Amino acid sequence: METCKNCQEAFTGNYCNHCGQKAFSPSDKSIKNILKEIFYFFTNFDNGFLKTIFTIIIKPGQLTVDYCAGKQKTYFKPISLYFLIVVIYLIFPVFSGLNQDLKYYKGNRIFGIIIENQINERLITDYMTLEELSVPFKVKSEVTSKVALFLFILISIFYIYLLFYKSKRVAFDHLILSTEINIFYLLVLFILLPLVMLTIFTLFGISETYISNE
Ligand SMILES: [Zn+2]
Repeated sequence: METCKNCQEAFTGNYCNHCGQKAFSPSDKSIKNILKEIFYFFTNFDNGFLKTIFTIIIKPGQLTVDYCAGKQKTYFKPISLYFLIVVIYLIFPVFSGLNQDLKYYKGNRIFGIIIENQINERLITDYMTLEELSVPFKVKSEVTSKVALFLFILISIFYIYLLFYKSKRVAFDHLILSTEINIFYLLVLFILLPLVMLTIFTLFGISETYISNE
């Protein structure tokens, strides 16, 4: 019999049957153990980190189906995964996909309709050229887009609710679907695709200024 260090219940075996904590031993505090845990986090399929990422890319939708049906242990918690990917995205400045230059919006068929007038007004009131206005715009958009990343899940829940309001799905299901969609886009469009492009451009010697200018 052992006493659980976490909940004080008595148990036998490697895990507490009351709260699930692993039996604690002093060696758990060693540096070697910490390094092992970090290594396992990224390589071991037990916590579902890689499995979850592969499932999202190879079989989009499967995570949501499984997770909402209660098959959860095999996956990494979707919302934690989303925030982890957001942090990875924010740490590496090479992924600047969300921050388009101001000139991209001017004359753009979709976004231009909404902000073309605002741009023109600003150019007149601030006596600026489009190039001059681009500078403060870039500074502001970099900050705003990063904050917006954290709102993506909430915004898409709203759309998903509108699409499926007739279904008997509960809010939790909408939340998981919305999280999976956002993980997919962030991972594929803003991390994997830029990485592939960067590799190709580096291999074929196309300069980075070319990439950022067009
Ligand atoms: Zn316990």
